[in-house]
Amino acid sequence: MVENLGIIGGGQLGSLLCTAAKKLNIKTIIFSDDENAPARNFCNEFIFGEYDDQEKINLFTSKVDLVTFEFENIPVETLKLINEVKKVLPKPRINKIIQNRLSEKDFVNKLNIRTTSYVGVKNENELRSNVNLIPGILKTTTLGYDGKGQFKINDVKDLERLNIDFSKDYILEKLVKLKQEISVIITRFGHQKFEIYEPIENHHEDQILRTSKIPANISEKISNLSIDHATIVADELDYIGTLCVEYFIDKNDNLYLNEIAPRVHNSGHLTINSHNISQFENHIRAICGLEKIKVKKLHDANMKNLIGDEISNYRNKNFKDSEFFFDYLKKEIKNNRKMGHLTTIKL
Ligand code: ADP
Ligand code: MG
Repeated sequence: MVENLGIIGGGQLGSLLCTAAKKLNIKTIIFSDDENAPARNFCNEFIFGEYDDQEKINLFTSKVDLVTFEFENIPVETLKLINEVKKVLPKPRINKIIQNRLSEKDFVNKLNIRTTSYVGVKNENELRSNVNLIPGILKTTTLGYDGKGQFKINDVKDLERLNIDFSKDYILEKLVKLKQEISVIITRFGHQKFEIYEPIENHHEDQILRTSKIPANISEKISNLSIDHATIVADELDYIGTLCVEYFIDKNDNLYLNEIAPRVHNSGHLTINSHNISQFENHIRAICGLEKIKVKKLHDANMKNLIGDEISNYRNKNFKDSEFFFDYLKKEIKNNRKMGHLTTIKL
């Protein structure tokens, strides 16, 4: 039985996992390399340390029964070391595949699931010899999020003005002419045991998620296909916990898998208010071996991320019964920083 759950990472996802754990009577211990991590406000205990600080890691593992994480970019070595002492779920080998956009896309294509065309790029020559993928997006193979480390290349001429730091490895992806973006959130409990939420429609601005809504305005065919693909991915990874798969839909209604997040996901925040069981509670249920309860939608819903300064307008606002405001209690307001979100349900 899990009484003390360790969570690596202290952002909003960690915070929302803590809140869900509390409801299940499970104590949370957060381990974060940010002393001011917002999850400090939501966990039972907080340990500040670098992700390679062996002493702090030992302290953390001594206090917990099981370890999970809120973001996928923790050094795999750290996860493996922890896993020798206390079980880590999802399994660290999954992070190894997904931390790198190239191995992630190779993995997906091996499953015969379509992604956009792509190629690994190590220098300017390799970039110039793949003009067939331009217009495209150049992304660092590791450590990107919210569009960080990404360059849009509309034309070969752009290469002159972009000052690309080739000490890092990149992936060049052909630009998909987007009609829509959706995500599917699935919680896998074990062999042939999973719960899936209906596809969520997402809108991004400047590569940052702006809004999410259910139902997604998509055909039944696309809905079924996206759910099938998410199930195949989760099965193939032998995944335990909540996983999110992001997709593109192009103008001809082709579905492309964009990326896999081996964790709870921003687009699933609305499940806290729209469903009987949220993506966060389901993650904890799955990893802690608790009962699997059938997910049921209670309301259609939409979620809006409150980014940067925007949060200030909401902190003293009165909300309707259909509105749910979440403040991540981040110490500092920064441009492009996700500060909170507002979910509105349809009553
Ligand atoms: P992140 O890890 O930052 O979420 P993504 O690869 O999901 O990175 O890119 C963020 C957003 O940028 C996507 O949701 C989409 O709106 C846009 N984008 C990324 N890659 C492509 C592409 N190949 N074609 C069209 N749009 C893209
Ligand atoms: Mg993404």
